[in-house]
Amino acid sequence: MPNIQFCKRCLYTTAHPLGLTLDEEGICSGCRIHEEKDMLDWAERWSMLEALVKPYRNQNGKNYDCIIPVTGAQDSYYIVHLVKERLGLNPLLVTYNKYFNTPLGIRNLANLRIRFNCDILYQNVNPISVKKITRSTLRQFGSIYWPILAGQTVFPVQTAVRYRIPLIIWGAHQGIEQVGMFSHEHEVEMTRRYRKDHDLMGHEADDLLSIFDTLKEEDIWQYRYPDDHDLNAVGVRGIYLGNYVRWDQKAQHEQMIMKYNYHSSSFTRTFDSYDYVDCFNYMSLHDQLKLYKHGFSKVTDHASREIRHGRLTREEGLALVRHHEKSPVEYAQLFMDWLGLTQRSLQFIMDQHRNPRFWNQPEFGQWEFNGWSVHHYSNSYEHQGNCPLPDIFEVNDKLEYDRDAKYITIGRGWP
Ligand SMILES: [Zn+2]
Repeated sequence: MPNIQFCKRCLYTTAHPLGLTLDEEGICSGCRIHEEKDMLDWAERWSMLEALVKPYRNQNGKNYDCIIPVTGAQDSYYIVHLVKERLGLNPLLVTYNKYFNTPLGIRNLANLRIRFNCDILYQNVNPISVKKITRSTLRQFGSIYWPILAGQTVFPVQTAVRYRIPLIIWGAHQGIEQVGMFSHEHEVEMTRRYRKDHDLMGHEADDLLSIFDTLKEEDIWQYRYPDDHDLNAVGVRGIYLGNYVRWDQKAQHEQMIMKYNYHSSSFTRTFDSYDYVDCFNYMSLHDQLKLYKHGFSKVTDHASREIRHGRLTREEGLALVRHHEKSPVEYAQLFMDWLGLTQRSLQFIMDQHRNPRFWNQPEFGQWEFNGWSVHHYSNSYEHQGNCPLPDIFEVNDKLEYDRDAKYITIGRGWP
């Protein structure tokens, strides 16, 4: 693997798709920006946030104060908790139907709505268009998540314009959390550009029309970002709470389990049982594709984060990565049934997206992993046999909840 350098502290490399640099001590930009979490005056930053949101409080009680994009997982509970309970704002929750919904995610979302007593808007794009786009982006970009990432990032913005609610509140900024793209003190906000470059792999909805002759206007229009004229007329802006609150996903989720009965689930491909419990594919098929394309998978993100927070050593993190990234992909059959693909054709398409930088093919059809974790320097700690690894994440449920493993297209609320 030529021209790839490894951070001495976490498990990231200079091949990170969001872009990452190493300083003269061999420490990456993500680790350096993480150090700010223990240096900044967070009480002061919280006051800045209070001042920032003040003008958005609705005086006459006839509209919402802000929009919060939510799902049945990730940081949704914590964001709503901060906005509603601590800032005292009246949010409109919005959620994009990702179709790969787990029963547990539907349960968590219903519980969120009820516990916080919030209004919520659902966007359900018709399944025929979603499947057409998924089939196209899987073939072309090796991504089954393009419509979801596009929908989750655009529906809140469209809603802001439509309902004239200028303020959108997001959780942490991924570019800051993972690779230290900006300082917390830059207070970066949501942009069309970041969404296109990083969330959508460089392809906006309109680009899909020229790339795929299978897609038509009627398939993609719901994913189109509002134009500047409309955004400016309402004054839409999107802020990130991670710039004002010391972001710690593990601690936050544990607080949400205690306080609001958030439910978690174990995964074969990572040790973090809190993230992504709303989706059958994010931590399975999508994660495998990430490993094919980028030479690392989500468990590297989770381990690097935990190393930075001081809860794992680098050696422990590396052992966890090596253990989980080889784990089997679960629930792939559900996806094949949903899209009408055979195992053979799915594997064929996926193999097309193996990055030769991270995968050797000694013989036709045989693949040898040559990704990040193979080349990491390791003192002695090699994982052997059953996982002798720190069990620091709480598991209190499973993705299936109380029913079968099946995508829930439209979930009625049940807590
Ligand atoms: Zn690092």
